[in-house]
Amino acid sequence: MDATTPIASQIPCQQCAAPLPVQQGTRFVTCEFCGATNFVDKARAVFHYALQQTVRETDALAALRRWMAGNQTVKGLDAAAKIDPLQFEYFPMWLVRTKQKGDEQLFLQPAAALSISDLKGETIPVASLVPYDHALDAAAVEPTVPYEAMITWLKEEQNIADTAISEVSLVHLPLFVGKYEYKGERYTAIVDAATSRVFANIYPSKWEAPYFTIAAIAFVVYFCASMGPLAGYTMGGGEGFMLGTILYLVIAVIAAIPIFIAAAYISSKV
Ligand SMILES: [Zn+2]
Repeated sequence: MDATTPIASQIPCQQCAAPLPVQQGTRFVTCEFCGATNFVDKARAVFHYALQQTVRETDALAALRRWMAGNQTVKGLDAAAKIDPLQFEYFPMWLVRTKQKGDEQLFLQPAAALSISDLKGETIPVASLVPYDHALDAAAVEPTVPYEAMITWLKEEQNIADTAISEVSLVHLPLFVGKYEYKGERYTAIVDAATSRVFANIYPSKWEAPYFTIAAIAFVVYFCASMGPLAGYTMGGGEGFMLGTILYLVIAVIAAIPIFIAAAYISSKV
């Protein structure tokens, strides 16, 4: 061993405070004394957990197709989309427990870049967390968002001071990444492999413009027809008013038919 060999720094274990021998480049460290799994970020170790995968690939694919057939997405997406084979991975998230004025709160922030910009509403069943196992290494995405960046985000975006943070841990979540093609465009959706929930922020959605067009046409038709009684009264007094009213009712009933058909047609298409 020569003098240029980097000396392993020692960081106390998050659970028992025994020194963890940390080699340069090693970030997932299991304590040899208490067995706690630690994630090492610069001069700091945090608890390292994983959520177990409970959803198989075939079930994740079924969940993705159900979401595609659902109300959020364009009609027929489930049949028309060409889905690539799902990619399984353990995705890193920072899990922060805070306490402010006796109020406990959990924050979940991606610890790496994600093709979906946010896992909005994602929750972690904390009771189901297990210590991270090195058997997951091959499928685990390496964290790229540093601890410090996450703390800064909490302070600036959520107004959480460091002093309010009671615990920080790194959690690897099991996910299926589903890439698919629809009408020449590529999209990505994520299926949580613990809950089957589907996340996507860009996807072929329902087209709402035709509904607005029909509503506008209907408004103009009814507005003009409603002028009938007034026009009739101006031209022929009481009798003209009667005729105008009858004309208005006839137009209203007749106009309702094409408007209803057009709306039904559009809703069957989108
Ligand atoms: Zn330990």
